[in-house]
Amino acid sequence: MAVFAERIAAMGTENAFRIGEDVAKAQARGVDVIRFTLGEPDFDTAAHISQAAIDGILAGHTHYTDPAGILPLRNAVAVHIGKTRGLDVDPDQVIVLSGGKPAIGFAMMSYVSPGDEVIYPSPGFPIYESWVTYVGGRPVPLVVREENNFAFTPDELEPLITPRTKILMLCSPSNPTGGVLSREVLQGVAEVIRRKAPPDMRVYSDEIYEHITFDGFEHFSIAAAPGMKERTIIASGHSKGFAMTGWRLGWAVLPNTEEASLFKQLNINTVSCVPPFIQDAGREALESPKTAAVVAGMVAEFKKRRDYVVPALNDIPGIRCNNPLGAFYVFPNVGGAVAAVGAEDFYNQLSDERKACTSPTTLFQRFLLYGHGVALVDRRSFGVLESEGQHFVRLSYATDIDTIREGVARIRQGASDAAGFEKFTADRDALGV
Ligand code: PMP
Repeated sequence: MAVFAERIAAMGTENAFRIGEDVAKAQARGVDVIRFTLGEPDFDTAAHISQAAIDGILAGHTHYTDPAGILPLRNAVAVHIGKTRGLDVDPDQVIVLSGGKPAIGFAMMSYVSPGDEVIYPSPGFPIYESWVTYVGGRPVPLVVREENNFAFTPDELEPLITPRTKILMLCSPSNPTGGVLSREVLQGVAEVIRRKAPPDMRVYSDEIYEHITFDGFEHFSIAAAPGMKERTIIASGHSKGFAMTGWRLGWAVLPNTEEASLFKQLNINTVSCVPPFIQDAGREALESPKTAAVVAGMVAEFKKRRDYVVPALNDIPGIRCNNPLGAFYVFPNVGGAVAAVGAEDFYNQLSDERKACTSPTTLFQRFLLYGHGVALVDRRSFGVLESEGQHFVRLSYATDIDTIREGVARIRQGASDAAGFEKFTADRDALGV
């Protein structure tokens, strides 16, 4: 008998966390590493939000709560949805969760039977593909292209929808590309869904970067399009917009109270509830008049960094970078550099077995880490299916501008270092294959 259950083999991971192991290895070899891998704001949580948690603890908010979340926070989320999406939401449709992530697995467990199809963006947040395969669903990647600024068109979506489609995953602003889906695109997507999707198909709208947009782009939720609120799960949380990644606080708005009660049941079966004082802080973040300025300050800082990093990357031969309108990532095409250093040729002569667990861009990304001390995340980490031949890396610019400057200078050096790459290919451990 095997130690592990069969089903666990189908679960993937989030490499942005795992790359930490390689960073540690490179550091142990004496490499000074600049990390562009972290998917979290480098700002601390605002003092007024932290104070609310401290006050909550001292007031004895240290017991189990309603597994759906405390009513004041669910109310605050409902008000927020009304203000930002124009939707009238019953607080009983809101479930408070331990971060933005649990809603993804909860949705797969609640809606997807083996063989059901789930459409999701590729490149996209890797946890989507991971959960689809874990529950036995059929993954249907929707490729988002550089030439579309990492959005997609309703026409590209339409042929992917079949009678077995159970969930359409959307993510705007996007991890990993920073791309956004405009009101026009989402109205078109809604029209395709109304016309073609099976009636019980759900849209999972991951809006965790809703607060972080630039250049006047206004976040739009597909739930606000006609006929969509009855079939959309809006998932968001406090991690990114309020710089609260470590608090583990998120929420989902379900299409109705019956579906919400399933998420509540999943909370009961896993974490019981989110700690009450964490929820106090979450309510404060949403309701305090002090929060808006804090968020605006952080977004302005992200914009400054984006405005530095995009032209700086475009100035490197072999690298091309779009100008994203949201989140704190850029997703440059490094195809020219991958070819220039010889990573593509080296990949092509590998055995099929070795090819299967890497890519030319993965080799280049590992070379930049071990050879030039700069850590990025490769395209394959954001969905393996349909990633062949795509030479992108994700750079998180949630770090200070001096670090960004130094990191970009190292990428520039690495991008033309064919001799260094040649040497690197002899280093099996660093190669990773
Ligand atoms: N969705 C997306 C698109 C994300 O990028 C992340 C975090 N990297 C999450 C969900 C999960 O957020 P949390 O840390 O709150 O679980």
